[in-house]
Amino acid sequence: MRVLLHTCCGPCLLEPLDAIAESDEVGVCYANPNIFPPEEYALRLDTLLAYAADAGLEVLELPYEPELWIAAVVGTGEDRSSRCRACYRLRIGMVAAEAARLGYDAVATTLSVSPYQDAEAIREEGEKACAREGVRFLHTDFRDRYPEATRRSRELGMYRQNYCGCAPSMAEAAAEGEARKAARRKK
Ligand code: SF4
Repeated sequence: MRVLLHTCCGPCLLEPLDAIAESDEVGVCYANPNIFPPEEYALRLDTLLAYAADAGLEVLELPYEPELWIAAVVGTGEDRSSRCRACYRLRIGMVAAEAARLGYDAVATTLSVSPYQDAEAIREEGEKACAREGVRFLHTDFRDRYPEATRRSRELGMYRQNYCGCAPSMAEAAAEGEARKAARRKK
């Protein structure tokens, strides 16, 4: 089977790529209009491309159009789970359309390695997006491989971001960091 793997960043690619490549042919697709600011988008892409060059992989980059992400999440307001669901729908949908155009059999996503993502929402939105394009969604759950992904990406000296990607997630990560600091000060 030929699988087009939606790839959110270099560190998250490592384990899903190896796991899927054990049985299937894998293409790598960077489709992330959610990432803010553009410099961060470029940094994550450069990190991925550097790994891909070493590993002899080609990376298909879909156009960076942040307005697509804004349009997708408009109306979700402060509700993070609705926002993330809309974000999964958009990104996996973009990759599914590309997979159909290029004759791939299935789509998967590296988001499935992150314990910070909503695995059930990824499955639901991935299945719907792929059904619309007539390709299969390869549902994977690699969260148990996250520690190894972390270890390997550190060992490789990869850039590792400290927020998911969108502008609201940057603010949320900063607020969570402040809350952790405040809790430590209280101890
Ligand atoms: S937190 Fe991450 S998954 Fe959720 S909307 Fe932002 S970029 Fe997308």
